[in-house]
Amino acid sequence: MPGLRWPSLSADKNDVPLSSDVSLPAGFIRALGAASTQEQMLRVTADWLPKMIVAERASIALPMSPHHMELYAFGGTAEVVRADAEMPIATSMVGEAYRKRSMVLVEDMAESHFDELPALVKAGLRSAVAAPMVSGDRCLGTVNVANSQPGSFSSVDHELVQTVADLIAGSLSLVQAAEQEKIRAMTDDLTGALNRGAVLAELNKRFDDEDDQPSLLFLDLDGFKLINDIHGHNVGDQVLRILVSRIRSRLADGDLLGRLGGDEFLVVLRDDGNGCRAEELAGEISTACGTAVVIRSLKIDLSLSIGVASPSSGVESATDMLADADRAMYRAKRSDRSLVVADDEIRRQTAMLTVVDRDLDIAMADQSIVFHYQPVRELATGRITGVEALIRWQHPQYQAIPPPLLIDRIEATGRVASFTRWCLDVVARDMTAIRGAVPSFSGGRIGVNLSPLQLAMSDCADMHASACLHYGLDPADILVEVVESSAINPGDEAERTLHKLADNGAQIGLDDFGTGHNALGYFTQFPIHMMKFDRSLVGVLTTNSDAYTILKVLASMCQELGIAAVAEGIEQEEEMVACRQFGIDYGQGWHLGRPKPLANLIELLQEESEGLLLADSVTAPAVS
Ligand code: C2E
Ligand code: MG
Ligand code: MG
Repeated sequence: MPGLRWPSLSADKNDVPLSSDVSLPAGFIRALGAASTQEQMLRVTADWLPKMIVAERASIALPMSPHHMELYAFGGTAEVVRADAEMPIATSMVGEAYRKRSMVLVEDMAESHFDELPALVKAGLRSAVAAPMVSGDRCLGTVNVANSQPGSFSSVDHELVQTVADLIAGSLSLVQAAEQEKIRAMTDDLTGALNRGAVLAELNKRFDDEDDQPSLLFLDLDGFKLINDIHGHNVGDQVLRILVSRIRSRLADGDLLGRLGGDEFLVVLRDDGNGCRAEELAGEISTACGTAVVIRSLKIDLSLSIGVASPSSGVESATDMLADADRAMYRAKRSDRSLVVADDEIRRQTAMLTVVDRDLDIAMADQSIVFHYQPVRELATGRITGVEALIRWQHPQYQAIPPPLLIDRIEATGRVASFTRWCLDVVARDMTAIRGAVPSFSGGRIGVNLSPLQLAMSDCADMHASACLHYGLDPADILVEVVESSAINPGDEAERTLHKLADNGAQIGLDDFGTGHNALGYFTQFPIHMMKFDRSLVGVLTTNSDAYTILKVLASMCQELGIAAVAEGIEQEEEMVACRQFGIDYGQGWHLGRPKPLANLIELLQEESEGLLLADSVTAPAVS
């Protein structure tokens, strides 16, 4: 008659007595202790249970949801078979043992009411025991045995099954805690998506599988900063959680979603290495995320910019592919498209950026990156009263790198501090060179552009002060040009820097005025000494009556406030004449002089100071 084999029949001398009547094989206990995942534990149990218990069927049931359990049946080998049937916790035998945390015995299944038993009777089984696996205050599941004879399990058998269940429970709780800790370390706390480190590690792993390289979707929520600014961070957080659940609803098994930071997410998806599914999925996600969310009584419109990248011959690393996806997303953001697929041009650009990023430090050190200086002229006299320092890099492979791109790379690669220190040092040094060569320029200023991120460094004003001190300049000699930007807000570190600069005696100019939205607020928020009207206004001055009126009003406003007004981008004589008529004091533009290397600027200043080109130069032809 089938029954339970006594573990004491095992030959192992180290068998562990767990109660006065029952002991378990030491090999089983050791193997359980060595299992580090739930899957390994199930395999160990599958291996050992048939050696310890001679029951016709043995299984473990684990809760999979608040309502049902799943059964892992052991077939006599070390195989674990997940049974298809789900066990309702409320009405099954294993569910009852789990719920009540006590053993359930069925002497004869034919007379019992539990859900799963009729099927077992059909399969020839009659008696069963389900023992709860309890650890601390949690029940983790049940260990179950069944035989074909009614009433085949004795009280000693019951004790053995419960002993095995207790042992597995202890081990399972440790494994589950370790797995949860591992998951926690890989998870973004706010959204539950993978965190940056985890998703990038997984991307690298999958990329290395040449037969099954993944595609990528780089997702960025449009206008997230504005959502945070207007509605607060709590609402911003909820928006991100909703976004993640919407994205998840479109993903298939095996796809991964990670949060790279802020409002940036990455989907790593399987698509047979050919990129076909990626675009389709991007479209689905875009649609799913594109409807407004309602939080409390707020209705917030959402849209995503998505960059799609797939493995291709030109992509050599996961980092390259990520950069492709990032650039494609960036392009989507700049266009009116919600998704852009990385193409050869984007790949070329990514390759270029990799080289640029690599070469930046050396180029700063060996002076391949330099400043060119563009004259700023007093419109009434034509005299050069200042110059603006504009960064220039002639890259050996990619030629002239556009300044905004260069600044972007400096900011994106964490070089803001070293670059700013370098800039201020070079500009101060060049200023001393100019003054040395052209004494008449002693009252002239040099303008240096500082981005909001540069200004956001707490020691930015100190860098300015120490560069001036080092070269014996007055802080007012190096004027700081600040781009009119919504990135500088009251209370920000950038705003504090502006006040510190002004307190130190530096002059502050507001650049590109007329391109932003809350422009007039700047007059009262920040200490401003100079205002530069943007080329987009100056360039249409003679053809657009609105621009004409706006400039005229702004010029008189500057006069009222005692702020120096500069018109930039003057390309034509008529523009210059109009600006002068409005009372704009200074001008800058192709018509008045292009940016030039230091040596050429010095030459120009020397010539002009000698009066060669000075003769009423306000009406002189363009200097180039
Ligand atoms: P910005 O500060 O407004 O500089 C003026 C830009 O207009 C310069 O472009 C200059 O070459 C160009 N420009 C001057 N006159 C004319 C004209 O008559 N017509 C036209 N079409 N353009 C004119 P550039 O040098 O390409 O610099 C672009 C922007 O990059 C600058 O705009 C500034 O925001 C930024 N930038 C340049 N150098 C630096 C730097 O050292 N640091 C930082 N943070 N930003 C810089
Ligand atoms: Mg400027
Ligand atoms: Mg400007």
